Amino acid sequence: MKTFQCSHCHSLIFFNDLVCLSCQHALGFEPKSLTLLAVAPAPGQAAEGDTQTPGAPDLWQVVGDASAEQTLPPGAFRFCRNHTDHQACNFLVAEDDPEAYCVSCRQTRVIPNLDMPGNLQRWATIEHAKRRLFYTLAKLGLEDAVSGGAGVRTPVYEFLEDIPGEPPVMTGHDDGLITINIAEADDAERTRRRIDLHEPYRTLLGHLRHEVGHYFWDQFFLNDPESLSECRDFFGDETLDYGQALQQHYQQPRPDWQSDFVSSYATSHPWEDWAETWAHYLHLLDLLETAANYHIAFTLQSPQGPMSVQCLDPYAAIAGLAAPQDADAPPSAGLIELLRQGMGVSLVLNSLNRSLGQEDAYPFVLSTPVLNKLAFVHEIVQRKRSQLAVDSA
Ligand SMILES: [Zn+2]
Ligand SMILES: [Zn+2]
Ligand SMILES: [Zn+2]
Repeated sequence: MKTFQCSHCHSLIFFNDLVCLSCQHALGFEPKSLTLLAVAPAPGQAAEGDTQTPGAPDLWQVVGDASAEQTLPPGAFRFCRNHTDHQACNFLVAEDDPEAYCVSCRQTRVIPNLDMPGNLQRWATIEHAKRRLFYTLAKLGLEDAVSGGAGVRTPVYEFLEDIPGEPPVMTGHDDGLITINIAEADDAERTRRRIDLHEPYRTLLGHLRHEVGHYFWDQFFLNDPESLSECRDFFGDETLDYGQALQQHYQQPRPDWQSDFVSSYATSHPWEDWAETWAHYLHLLDLLETAANYHIAFTLQSPQGPMSVQCLDPYAAIAGLAAPQDADAPPSAGLIELLRQGMGVSLVLNSLNRSLGQEDAYPFVLSTPVLNKLAFVHEIVQRKRSQLAVDSA
């Protein structure tokens, strides 16, 4: 993800920040413009720290000078209710929006019991990862599908804890409902599960990206036999018995998965292959946006000689890919080039991690069949994003 600059003092600020450390303004993320902005109480509102008036100011407005570099959204905003109540969200809600919760938090249907020690932190950590997911989907033009702005059915979330004597909470997706076991927000517990399951990588953001991939599979393919048939060409026939396939995977995982799949789990069933590949599509776009934001350039050595890479903003590049320069090139060529850049960044990133004695941040190698699956995910997103908005109009 990109970094941001405080709209008031231009200091470097980050997506999840609540306050600018330089000028002390409160920060709010405006989900329509996808920008993090300095805000101050609107005229007539109690000032921050005002001891005469109980309660925080309700209405806020953006602070800063509009310039060629920055346009400031007009009007007044409220903070998301989860900011006011728990300091657990920094998204803004437009003054005329009847919802108390922001576009991301309003999709959460059940949260754990916050009176239990540790649950507030676990839940807030998951909501933070979910806002990152919102950002990437919005950058891809899928925000209507996740915010419900145009009347599309959105995914909903339940963040649940294991209760002694009851069946364990399974992280997963079922017909638009995404359930996350909040134990996954505990680093020690998540690491234990990762090692138990022989996984090289396990993160909250990864879980959310994977599960929302199932939601988008339904959106894209359930009512579109033509696209579904294309999908089967890449991922296989999903009418295969799901329970049986999963059981078989856990009993006898395929040893040769590296040649055709992005992960071992992706071999378990075509739905899981799609969701795993989808998650990696989002991983790579986010990684590339971050690298491009810092203008990262590097050179890789290869038998063919040195290869220089200047990271490009993937979303700008994708917009360019919509009108290919070379009519003879296959439509996926530009995207695969972009994904190769992402793999180059991950190589550098992993080497840097090893220098610090850390595990690889992105412990995956992408084979050509996997790149082709990623290119299909990309193509279907480009095709469907306008359609989702039209269908709901
Ligand atoms: Zn500032
Ligand atoms: Zn919120
Ligand atoms: Zn899955």
